[in-house]
Amino acid sequence: MTRRKLLKNMLQLSLLASFSQAFFTGIAKAAGKCSTLIDLTGKSKDPNNAKAVAQAKGLQYVADIDKAVKAGTTKRKDKDDKCGNCQFFTKTAEGCGKCILINFGEITVNENGWCISWTRKI
Ligand code: SF4
Repeated sequence: MTRRKLLKNMLQLSLLASFSQAFFTGIAKAAGKCSTLIDLTGKSKDPNNAKAVAQAKGLQYVADIDKAVKAGTTKRKDKDDKCGNCQFFTKTAEGCGKCILINFGEITVNENGWCISWTRKI
């Protein structure tokens, strides 16, 4: 094998490895579950969850804005507002994501959640 061919093979293997890693990381994220979702029941022993719940209560966070509106306990600011289209939200897994305002460890909020600080993502 020539030196040129060896370098070419090494480059191809390197590109293949990079592509494979990006591909499988993407699949893992897409299939991810909300394992770090905020637990509003208070049963969680995670100290970050306790801090997140305290913050969430201050922001009048609800886990499901549709249910809260239907129950008459919350009023929306806009017709479709929810965490999923809030500028403070970054999706991390299917159905949930990080909120800048409820940011304690790995705790996430519901994509269909809502709080009084909702601001439309632009
Ligand atoms: S600031 Fe936005 S993302 Fe965070 S809880 Fe409130 S509505 Fe949801």
